Amino acid sequence: MVKLRNCSHARLHPNSAIHYTRAMTIFAKILSGEIPCHRVYEDAHVLAFLDIGPLSDGHLLVIPKEAKAQLHELSDESAAALGRVLPRLARAVMAATGATAYNILQNNGASAHQAVMHVHFHIIPKLGSAGLGVGWNAGTLDAVRARVLVETMQAALS
Ligand code: AMP
Repeated sequence: MVKLRNCSHARLHPNSAIHYTRAMTIFAKILSGEIPCHRVYEDAHVLAFLDIGPLSDGHLLVIPKEAKAQLHELSDESAAALGRVLPRLARAVMAATGATAYNILQNNGASAHQAVMHVHFHIIPKLGSAGLGVGWNAGTLDAVRARVLVETMQAALS
């Protein structure tokens, strides 16, 4: 049986510039140590812990310590820290579960299935039928629309 490990030491990084303007999310409470979690990994910018409602065995959540609701709001520093550690955490999930396939899921916005308004990545092992079910209603890419999209996105990037 997995023993619940308290995350009270999972303190917010002093450079995170955390100023909560809304009610604290459940993940902010985990970061502050107010509620416990099954902690797997922690560094100055990132915390990873087991999902309390797993889609499959080993379902892991990876969150920045920076208190932002959605991915596009994150600082480069947090984004880099997450990117650096995600492959390593995926390898750990695979080693612990024997999974050879997995999904990374990252929801932004309530209509996109985000329930907790603090950025988080799911690492969800695919174990037989257990894991993430994906509905994928693919359309076709129109050439005119593609040109407009490319131009608009490139302008937004510059
Ligand atoms: P999302 O729909 O992407 O916002 O997913 C939120 C996830 O957070 C769900 O998979 C929940 O099971 C998980 N969750 C909510 N509260 C906790 C908690 N206290 N500890 C661990 N996972 C949690």
